[in-house]
Amino acid sequence: MAGLELEYQTNYSGKQHGYAETSIWLATVTMAPSTRRVKRPDVPDRFVWLYGNPKMRDGCYEYHPAVQSHIEEAYLNDKDKCMINFHGEKRTLSFDSMSDSSGSDKRQIKRVHSTKLHMSKCKGISGASYVSTKGYQQTDEKCNICFHKQMVPTRIPACGHSFCYTCIKTNFKKRLPCPMCRGDLPISLFVNPIRYDVDFDVECPEEFAEDCSAMFKKPDNEEVGESSSKRKESKLRHYWIYEARGFWYRYDPKHEKYLEEHFLRNKPSCTLFICGIKMQVDFKKHTQKGDEWNAARERKIKRIAASDMHKFKIRGIAGVSFLVQPIS
Ligand SMILES: [Zn+2]
Ligand SMILES: [Zn+2]
Repeated sequence: MAGLELEYQTNYSGKQHGYAETSIWLATVTMAPSTRRVKRPDVPDRFVWLYGNPKMRDGCYEYHPAVQSHIEEAYLNDKDKCMINFHGEKRTLSFDSMSDSSGSDKRQIKRVHSTKLHMSKCKGISGASYVSTKGYQQTDEKCNICFHKQMVPTRIPACGHSFCYTCIKTNFKKRLPCPMCRGDLPISLFVNPIRYDVDFDVECPEEFAEDCSAMFKKPDNEEVGESSSKRKESKLRHYWIYEARGFWYRYDPKHEKYLEEHFLRNKPSCTLFICGIKMQVDFKKHTQKGDEWNAARERKIKRIAASDMHKFKIRGIAGVSFLVQPIS
C-alpha cells in the first residue's frame, strides 16, 4: 500500500547561536504503509552537548547520554530552556545565555558537531573522566569477593581486576589489597566517585535473592495481616535509599533486597554489613546506624516507589554518583 512518508532534512543556517540548524520536511511518496510513523532524525549522533566552567578554559564534559537528546530536542524546538537532574541537583539549561545553572553555580554550555568533539578539550562524560572510567562496564561477570554478578562493577586501574563497588570498598576500609593480585587499592576509587556507565535500575542478582529467601523460608505468624498488603504493594518497583550530606543514594541492590525481605516480614529492625561495618536498621524510626562498636553516623533511610524517584535528590547507588535524568 502506498503511503505518504515525511523525510526529515536539515540544513545549516548558522543564524541562531552560530550553530543552529533549520529543518525542512520533504514529502515523498513511497511504498511505506500509511500507519508507519514518521522517523525522527537521529540528532544525538551528530551533535553533542558539552558543559564546563565559564569560558571552558579548564576543559569540559559531555552531558550524560541519558539527557543528550532531551537537551537537543528542547533546543531544536526553540525552547528557551530545559531542566535536568544532575547527580541529585536540579539544573536549568538556558539556550539564550548558553548556560547551565543551579543556584549561584553557573556553567557554560556548548553544542558541537560530533566530528569536532576532539577540538573541544573534552575530559570525559558527566563529570567522570574518560581515563578513569575506561574499562568499567556493567557486566554479568561474577565478583570474586561475593561470587554474585557484579553490582556497580569497579575496576582497579593498575591491575584491571573488577568487583562490586561495595565489595572492593570493604577491602579498602579494612586496608586489604586487591584479593586477586594483592595490588594496592587507590584511594581515588573511593573518594566522591563519579561514573556515567552505571545502570540505576540494576536488579539484585537472582542467586542472591534465592539465598535471601532461603533465609526467610518460614514466614512469621505476623506475616499474614499487614504484610500481605505490603506484598501486593511490593509488586510495584521500590527502592531503598539513604541520606548522605543532603543527597540520597540507592542502597547496593543486594543490601536493598535484604532490607526489603525484612520489611515485608514486618521485622522492626535488621542488621546488615555495609563495607565491613555492622549497621542497625530501624524500620520504625527510618534510620540506619552503626552498633555500639562503630560510630558510623546515623542516617535517614526511606523506601520509595520508583515513580517517586524525582521527589528526592538521588545521586546514584552506594555512594557512587552517576544519575542524570531529564526533568522538563
Ligand atoms: Zn561483590
Ligand atoms: Zn588485582
